[in-house]
Amino acid sequence: MKISFFDMKEKEEISFLKKYLKNHTLKFFSQSIHDVPLDQYEDSEIISVFIYSETKKEILSKLKKLKCVLTRSTGFDHIDTNYCSMKKIAVGNVPLYGENTVAEHTFALMLNLARNVHKSYLREKEGNFSIDGLRGFDLKGKTLGILGVGHIGLHVIKMARGFGMNVIAYDINQNHFLAEVMHYSYATQEEVLKKADILSLHMPLNNHTKHIINEETLSLTRKGIHIINTSRGGLIDSEALYNFLKKGHIGGVGLDVIEGEEYIVHEEELIENKEKHNEIAQLMITKEIMKHENVIFTPHNAFNSQEALKRILESTIENINSFESKGEVKFSIS
Ligand code: NAD
Repeated sequence: MKISFFDMKEKEEISFLKKYLKNHTLKFFSQSIHDVPLDQYEDSEIISVFIYSETKKEILSKLKKLKCVLTRSTGFDHIDTNYCSMKKIAVGNVPLYGENTVAEHTFALMLNLARNVHKSYLREKEGNFSIDGLRGFDLKGKTLGILGVGHIGLHVIKMARGFGMNVIAYDINQNHFLAEVMHYSYATQEEVLKKADILSLHMPLNNHTKHIINEETLSLTRKGIHIINTSRGGLIDSEALYNFLKKGHIGGVGLDVIEGEEYIVHEEELIENKEKHNEIAQLMITKEIMKHENVIFTPHNAFNSQEALKRILESTIENINSFESKGEVKFSIS
């Protein structure tokens, strides 16, 4: 089959895929799909993208031979799944590559905030060894609120229990057996927001969850709340987040994802384009949030461990083989 891979920067990853997909015609592009001229991939039967590729109708409708879209991620909000389903284009993702990986990163952000590691690091680089203002707090005994108890959320809960935290969680689907054996409890979304010392988001981004953290829901939270988001930037209304940070309501924020993250790499082009008012305004807020001393930002890097990456590539190969032999993807998003 003719397969085009986008967002592929690492030589080792390309070699790995070439080794296990010898029977196919492969093309690799380091750029995202919307940055590659169409004539270079318009005959693709399968495309494999990552989160940076906005794989929407405008592009998909031009690929007349396309049968299957695979994303090398768990989240698939960058793909126009409605269009794919209308055109009977299969869509697959990698559902299970990194639940421990992302959960570990969630704790990296949480521990950094709790013990002011980011501030200590900056001071030490300047030769300042004072501990003034660096007093942190213990995780033990704190209440962790989780929104979205899926694969990643459950790993976060397991780790939190190891730290002696109390966990309350909200999910539209609840597994009371797991709650009992893992010693966490379910509550309404409102209760979670009201009681959490630290709030961690692990739900997908969709029409129901967009801006689930906004002015109204933030006003329910405790003063000094810490918020961690390793899921998708769009879950948090960034303007509301900025306002609550500015007025000192939020104690700290650990973000691996943020609204407007896609604009940061294209900042110069964006600022030159006077028509993109909304995008420029979003970029300004995003950058203000990232500059705040109580915010730690990692550039959508939670998935990025050696082990997780190997699992991503293996699942992608499995999906391609399954699509070729049975016409179905093994990890379908529907
Ligand atoms: P999952 O599907 O296993 O779990 C998501 C959970 O959210 C499910 O239990 C679901 O019932 C719940 N949910 C859905 N809608 C909800 C709502 N409105 N309110 C409450 N709960 C709701 O997914 P996962 O593997 O745990 O991944 C979670 C998210 O993490 C993904 O959607 C993806 O966006 C993100 N992610 C980020 C990275 C990264 O590198 N930062 C890597 C992998 C995944």
